[in-house]
Amino acid sequence: MAKYKLEYIWLDGYEPVANLRGKTQVKEFDKFPTLEELPLWGFDGSSTQQAEGRSSDCVLKPVAVFPDTTRENAALVMCEVLLPDGTPHPSNSRATIIDDEDTWFGFEQEYFLFQDGRPLGFPKDGFPEPQGKYYTGVGYSAVGDIAREIVDAHLDLCLDAGINHEGINAEVAKGQWEFQIFGKGSKTAADQVWMARYLLERLCEQYGVDVNYHCKPLGKDFDWNGSGMHSNFSTKYMRETGGKEYFESLMAAFDKYKNEHIAVYGPDNHLRLTGLHETQSIDKFNYGVANRGASIRVPHSFVNNGYKGYLEDRRPNSQGDPYKIASRILQTIATVPTP
Ligand code: ADP
Ligand code: MN
Ligand code: MN
Ligand code: MN
Repeated sequence: MAKYKLEYIWLDGYEPVANLRGKTQVKEFDKFPTLEELPLWGFDGSSTQQAEGRSSDCVLKPVAVFPDTTRENAALVMCEVLLPDGTPHPSNSRATIIDDEDTWFGFEQEYFLFQDGRPLGFPKDGFPEPQGKYYTGVGYSAVGDIAREIVDAHLDLCLDAGINHEGINAEVAKGQWEFQIFGKGSKTAADQVWMARYLLERLCEQYGVDVNYHCKPLGKDFDWNGSGMHSNFSTKYMRETGGKEYFESLMAAFDKYKNEHIAVYGPDNHLRLTGLHETQSIDKFNYGVANRGASIRVPHSFVNNGYKGYLEDRRPNSQGDPYKIASRILQTIATVPTP
């Protein structure tokens, strides 16, 4: 038997963006515990905007477990928050979403590393060289001295945890980076995004760096890119059958529900979706082949394969909740009949 450190992690009740919370429970197991072996646990919801002080107990229900290689005998346990009667807490955005393991999601999480209230590598006053050389750049003047150490360490932590990273890259603004996560099913994919966000924030503590997930941390009036979370998706039907007619019906449905999509694509998105900096305006919907100024980008491969494959919704932002984003995409897809 060994004593395992189980970090129970959940989303708190802050609006419009939940924060990640976590606390450690020590339990004995003879080997790394399975999800089924992990007990329910509780916390004081009055300290996380999830309960009144008078009746403050909330329940943590483990829903996914990942190894944590930064601590000996340790696990990261993604949890849903339940009310004492076992029903989902209103802040629990995972419990009621649509899921389908045959729908695959690839989330491109962009973010800024921040130090002393400004992007990592920005001078104390003013700005560094304008955007141009930072995206996928190399060299001290492009990426500074510690950012790469952070993003590489984060990648290893995530891979060790079994999170399905597909890649990382330096982004368009100085101090801005991206990681990509692929998962089959909305819950599987989104659990991994939340856990990767958690690991990044925790890792950055030791560097005196914060992760800024806001979609336009430098404001809309400056010529610096915002952060998105482009959401790539494909259903079984899109991958195996597809076709131009189905694609056009699908895009008509995305157009019809554009406001419902924007409503769950992250706060302050009007600051980011301006029509500039590789975005479409927030009140418009369009799609285009290889068009990075479109709401939905259609990869060349999609058209070349007879309108089969995946599509990229470029509107979700870096603070969006991947549970809600994936579920909304599935909800709109479900309105389109397949022949
Ligand atoms: P770009 O920066 O050019 O938009 P990335 O390489 O950063 O592209 O991201 C592409 C994303 O598409 C990856 O997250 C990948 O997992 C995802 N993806 C690839 N194939 C599929 C698919 N069939 N279904 C869903 N997502 C996919
Ligand atoms: Mn990308
Ligand atoms: Mn990007
Ligand atoms: Mn993209």
